[in-house]
Amino acid sequence: NQFPGDDSGNLTPRPTPGVLYSKAIPTPVKGPSLLAWSEELGKELGIQKPIDQTDIDILGGNLVTSSMYPYAANYAGHQFGHWAGQLGDGRAITLGEVIATNGLPYEIQLKGAGPTAYSRRADGRAVLRSSVREYLMSEAMYYLGVPTTRALSLISTGDPVLRDMFYNGNEAYEPGAIVTRVAPTFIRFGNFEILAARQEKENLLGLINWTIDRYYPHIQGDDRIIAWYKEVVERTAKLMVEWTRVGFVHGVMNTDNMSILGLTIDYGPYSFMDDYDPNFTPNTTDLPGRRYAFGKQAGIGKWNLACLAGAIAPAFTDTTPLSAALESYDDTYWMYYYGMMTNKLGLDALFEEDIVLIRQLEKVLIDLKPDMTIFFQLLIDLPSTLHTEQDILDHFKESFYQEPEAQQATDVYQWMNDYLERLEKNTISTEERIKLMRATNPRFILRNYLLHQAIQELENGENTLFSKLQEAIKDPYSNKYAEFFVKRPDWATQQAGCSMLSCSS
Ligand code: AMP
Ligand code: MG
Ligand code: MG
Repeated sequence: NQFPGDDSGNLTPRPTPGVLYSKAIPTPVKGPSLLAWSEELGKELGIQKPIDQTDIDILGGNLVTSSMYPYAANYAGHQFGHWAGQLGDGRAITLGEVIATNGLPYEIQLKGAGPTAYSRRADGRAVLRSSVREYLMSEAMYYLGVPTTRALSLISTGDPVLRDMFYNGNEAYEPGAIVTRVAPTFIRFGNFEILAARQEKENLLGLINWTIDRYYPHIQGDDRIIAWYKEVVERTAKLMVEWTRVGFVHGVMNTDNMSILGLTIDYGPYSFMDDYDPNFTPNTTDLPGRRYAFGKQAGIGKWNLACLAGAIAPAFTDTTPLSAALESYDDTYWMYYYGMMTNKLGLDALFEEDIVLIRQLEKVLIDLKPDMTIFFQLLIDLPSTLHTEQDILDHFKESFYQEPEAQQATDVYQWMNDYLERLEKNTISTEERIKLMRATNPRFILRNYLLHQAIQELENGENTLFSKLQEAIKDPYSNKYAEFFVKRPDWATQQAGCSMLSCSS
């Protein structure tokens, strides 16, 4: 409960022993205006859509009401595999909590509202480009059914923000923006790591117990800390499987970006995969290591859980159960993974041979690199009486970025035959299979090039595409939005890992 900053708003970066958060007052902006509002989320929270400038001033950080208690959280983290020490909310300020209509508390946070005690040399601001990306994608993930933080509003600030342009190295001014984000809590693995690093055992136990009481109230009893850690392991494994299901690549899986609730958190240089490629990373700063590439996310999830285990280890006299809980990650992950793939393929159950079928499919996809989303949509409609190799190639044509070579054609044909044979043994009806597959495989994903186009339009004061996307993300499993059911156009092809379409700032 100590504030390293004083009340004059004169906050200077410094190490903060004993401190879990710091008071942080949003810095006013010139001309806040409302670009977007999430109606459904507003209703769930019991927060009315802004009706006047006073409401918009709150979302722009120009007005702090007496019921608010704005602060920035203090946390540390491992970044790209290395201990990075204290980080903290450098540009996110929590205004307080609201009790939603479901009776549960939700944290309301402004991202881009100005410097805090943890901003180091950065400005505490966010540009429109990255804010649109966070706003739309966190809502898109919610409607896909993937655990995530959410976004309530998008405000343009009227203030320019200076940024290094990653694609040409020059500095340029960009329009500034603020996203209001919402989650039960934004606590990350890094909040525990900083307390362990500072050897503040009492604070560490305090935060662990508080987190369990508040966010894991179903966990009771003497062994509750280990039970809680096991549940964090399980939620994280499940999240990795969900990302795999929809082809999401986070891009910056540092431990300060790992939610203690197993939510997708911190939307930066993320991307959906277009063409299937386990080596795909949308993050330039992740080259050449590709630590956070699509195919590595599951392993990194475990690596990050090991950091969390290390951080909470002081709460244990014997850490054997902690290591065992960490090791349970693999089995949990594979259990969820095969369950998810069973649904994705529309199978009634998972048999021993199905594991071979699934692994074979991964090989085919890696080799063929089709558009993942379109491929699985076409798989749903695979006629049961397709017979030549050419039939198969014709059926999946729309999903190919390049003509399959002879061997690839043979392999995909072979796999389809095995799959059709397996479907014959299905005990569920074709209708049930299709229903299951439609519910598991999204038809609409928020591709990077769409975001890029919507952002360019918005920067020119035009919101047609943005509004369309705002609607389309709400119904990703339907076939309502045929205009978006197309693979990435040639002009948007990503170069080595990152393109100007995906980076955030
Ligand atoms: P990220 O890579 O987005 O997870 O951010 C890593 C750290 O940098 C966090 O502590 C952020 O709060 C901080 N940070 C990122 N951008 C800014 C910014 N524009 N101003 C202040 N802090 C920032
Ligand atoms: Mg972060
Ligand atoms: Mg970030």
